[in-house]
Amino acid sequence: MSVARIVDAGYMVGFEESVCNVSKDVMRTELGKRNRSLYHVAENKEFQSYEENTSHQTNLGLARNQSPSATLETWHGRLCHRTLDSPAVNYSSSKVRDMEVSNTSVASTKICGVCALGPQHKEAEMKAREKGTELLSVVHSDLCGPMETATLNGERYFITFTDEMSGRVSISLLRTKDRALSQFQAYPSRAEKASGKMIKALPTDGGGEYLNKAFKKYLVAAGIYHIVTPPYSPSRNGLAERMNRTIMETARCLLLESQISFKFWGHAALTAAHVHNRLPSRSHNNTSPIAFWTGKEPSIGHLPVFGSTPWLHIPKEMRRKLAAKSLKGILVGYE
Ligand SMILES: [Zn+2]
Repeated sequence: MSVARIVDAGYMVGFEESVCNVSKDVMRTELGKRNRSLYHVAENKEFQSYEENTSHQTNLGLARNQSPSATLETWHGRLCHRTLDSPAVNYSSSKVRDMEVSNTSVASTKICGVCALGPQHKEAEMKAREKGTELLSVVHSDLCGPMETATLNGERYFITFTDEMSGRVSISLLRTKDRALSQFQAYPSRAEKASGKMIKALPTDGGGEYLNKAFKKYLVAAGIYHIVTPPYSPSRNGLAERMNRTIMETARCLLLESQISFKFWGHAALTAAHVHNRLPSRSHNNTSPIAFWTGKEPSIGHLPVFGSTPWLHIPKEMRRKLAAKSLKGILVGYE
């Protein structure tokens, strides 16, 4: 294993008394355990293939032209490194539109080295009591950051609002924590317009971004019951925390696989949320978050691989004489 290569990719490798781990900003993954004077990296062939593959642009198929039909490897990338064995392919493709897998013979774990650095992404877990009975009635929120690296727009935080009933997550990138209130104010207005429903309760942790005077005043005026989790007992706020962790782990995989600068963590996090909202969840009646809101299965045929390198056509008017008709781009997200 080359520690230098991992460090060159912008990660830190830490050796502690009993474990060694790789980290970046708030993300941390255990690499191995210490045995006497040596640290043993967990036996993991995929991890070695990650190393072999890091010299390439990507070890997954590039989806230059999005199409409903792609290989399992490409779908694994398009779905943000979701676990895709045969049952998972059958399950997911039956709950969305425009997902055709052209080969199902290889398990995605066998072809993706990046996933070896962290757990493969299963759907965000929900507990039995975390299933609201009405859209928007309970919205969970949590703020994540500060990241060590700011995005190109100077953002170091993200905040999520997750609707308990559907599992739909709305994510915003923030420069400072005090933007939390304005993002929450923007969230229900967009969502309520679509559903005509009102937020009744907002579980959060006791972070200052939620407990300040302005936030409290807004919640009282809007008639929203604020459920604050006491410190060190995160069970009530577990849904939002798990959602943020899933988003961050997914973002880490996307960046690692594409070898794009960590400045694009925000794009990767938005991509992770976009894909999450379109995939079915066993804890939500095998329905995708979007389907709860629209009543129909979402199409995912448009999803490209994060970090793929499409050729972009340059319109005639924008071209100088003899200049190239197209430019190679790097895909870092989509609307
Ligand atoms: Zn993967």
